[in-house]
Amino acid sequence: MFDEEEMEKLLLAGKIAKIVRQAVPSMVFEGASVLRICDGVESEIARLGGSPAFPCNVSINDIGAHYTSPPSDTTVVPAGSLVKVDLGVHIEGLIADTAVTVSVGSDFEDMIKAVELALERGIQTVKIGGRIGDVGPVVEKTIRSMGYRPIRNLTGHQIEQYTIHSGLSIPNVSGAESVGKFQPWSVYAIEPFATLPKAAGEVREREPGNILHLVKLKRPKTEPQMGAYDEIYRKFRTLPFARRWVVGSGKAVNTMLAERLLYEYPVLVEASGMPIAQAEHTVITTDKESIVTT
Ligand code: MN
Ligand code: MN
Repeated sequence: MFDEEEMEKLLLAGKIAKIVRQAVPSMVFEGASVLRICDGVESEIARLGGSPAFPCNVSINDIGAHYTSPPSDTTVVPAGSLVKVDLGVHIEGLIADTAVTVSVGSDFEDMIKAVELALERGIQTVKIGGRIGDVGPVVEKTIRSMGYRPIRNLTGHQIEQYTIHSGLSIPNVSGAESVGKFQPWSVYAIEPFATLPKAAGEVREREPGNILHLVKLKRPKTEPQMGAYDEIYRKFRTLPFARRWVVGSGKAVNTMLAERLLYEYPVLVEASGMPIAQAEHTVITTDKESIVTT
């Protein structure tokens, strides 16, 4: 269970995430620098008293997830695009995870409505003792009823302290393997993704997206990796971090990647190149209720 302090931190992380998410549409416009969006989101989180639980993801059009700006990113938001901004806040490892999609003159505003409605209905199925597998059919049905298709291999997830994805997935489609029931005193992220009906409806991995995390708690014995490891562990533990956040340790980071001490997430793109919309909230359970923190 969460003690009073943990509960306060979870709720505060959620409150900060919500405030920052609500500011996102004003930061996303045609020609806006993606790097400035990332920096803006992350500095706003810090200004409000939180820390980013992972680098701000800005995933445009067919990119579904896991793109953040490299150190000198010149990417700008193109006209006619769907821009997903996914942000996380943590306070001493207690996390809120939320996302919003902005249409920048695209034809897909209804796709955003579809994922938002699917999210709302998905959240209603989060009940202590309820089956986790009940979320998928609700999400899929809602998205399909609005003429779109869910992304079958992007899912919600359980969250633990300092761990954004605990290993328990919450499928967004029916018939997907899903285990168990919603437990009391837990944190869950519900996050439907949709694409066009003619699309493949799944993502595949592409190039690395500048988001890394420590996979092995094993301190290197030589410099400069030892210093880089210490910095990463102190600042992020096992939470994801951006190349932008450790620019001074670039070389050591690459060595640690080669030695598999670090992992770099690949960008996930829709397999048939079709645009994706996403919506996400974090839900926590107590012994009697579920609360949307974001
Ligand atoms: Mn997220
Ligand atoms: Mn998530």
